[in-house]
Amino acid sequence: MANPSLLILPGDGIGPEVMAEVRKVIGWLGEKRGLNFDVSEDLVGGAAYDVHGVPLADSTMAKAQAVDAVLLGAVGGPKYDKLDFSVKPERGLLRLRKEMDLYSNLRPAQCFDALADFSSLKKDVVAGLDIMIVRELTSGVYFGEPRGIFTEGNERVGINTQRYTESEIARVARSAFELARRRSNRVCSMEKANVMESGILWREVVQEIHDKEYPDVELSHMYADNGAMQLVRWPKQFDVIVTDNLFGDVLSDCAAMLTGSLGMLPSASLGAPMANGRPKALYEPVHGSAPDIAGQGKANPIACILSFAMALRYSFDQGAEADRLEKAVEKVLADGVRTADLMQKDGGTPVTTSQMGDAIVAALEASL
Ligand code: NAD
Repeated sequence: MANPSLLILPGDGIGPEVMAEVRKVIGWLGEKRGLNFDVSEDLVGGAAYDVHGVPLADSTMAKAQAVDAVLLGAVGGPKYDKLDFSVKPERGLLRLRKEMDLYSNLRPAQCFDALADFSSLKKDVVAGLDIMIVRELTSGVYFGEPRGIFTEGNERVGINTQRYTESEIARVARSAFELARRRSNRVCSMEKANVMESGILWREVVQEIHDKEYPDVELSHMYADNGAMQLVRWPKQFDVIVTDNLFGDVLSDCAAMLTGSLGMLPSASLGAPMANGRPKALYEPVHGSAPDIAGQGKANPIACILSFAMALRYSFDQGAEADRLEKAVEKVLADGVRTADLMQKDGGTPVTTSQMGDAIVAALEASL
């Protein structure tokens, strides 16, 4: 059988630095676990603009459509800030998301015990936290028409439209239920059905999909404003949260900060199932290209490594190896290994990006 295929797009700034550490993990899996990938690498963002004059070449887009999964580092940087909007590095990422039709954005918020002190919340509220926010990514108020700034009488009016079709709600709901079955089997759907018609439809469709296709999963509904309060009050009550594009944008950032550093946060964006039954998928750390620390060996590679762990789980059906990798990260943190972003003000000497990658590979090795 052919090896699973992975397209790596390191991008700009710290992207290539953190991706080099993922490469070490991939090398280890091949050597020690007999798990080999057909890895190809290409350009995205400013790096692609420098060579092709566009932030994502058509040939790269075609490769992304053909592989089992794409892993992206980060795009952007001050060098490209003055470029025309149409060729800005971020447009490369947006093109990938749009043309692969990645409608389901997975943002885990997981708090490793060793980092529980980093949260702005009390330790017992966040220690051991492991929740997953599923945000609808390709529709809703960021895309609905009409939109724009118009003049009515003698004043301007700004308009955006929240619009969801049944099928758009149904497919992201399925994505959340499928995920819940691999976790603690609980989904909480969040909307504002009390004041928005789109919220009423959201709640009805999620309930219908549940009753027809996923009756084994525990489903609850919550108004999104209450959801925001509950996330800060007692986040461990949740397992999977499914919500629309706008509420998901806000709630996932809020949940992310429960866990501490931006350098720790992975994400996945999933689309429709391919011929092999696995969804189209793009994995990427939540952080950007961090130009302030690029090229200095200071970047934390864990967000990118954990994004690859998500790829192992959701695209390559290697849940056991994903668990092993996440446990290796946990072990390294428990041993006190820290990149600069994870240092307390008073604490010790940070390791470099490369040393963190080496420590994670050593922990993988020790797990055998
Ligand atoms: P950023 O995420 O790049 O950096 C914010 C802060 O967090 C910086 O101080 C940075 O040093 C720190 N940081 C980020 N990742 C880190 C890591 N792995 N290890 C240690 N520290 C880390 O956000 P920004 O500064 O607002 O944006 C910088 C550039 O990145 C901009 O061009 C922006 O458009 C782009 N960006 C890209 C993405 C993406 O590729 N998905 C996301 C956000 C921002």
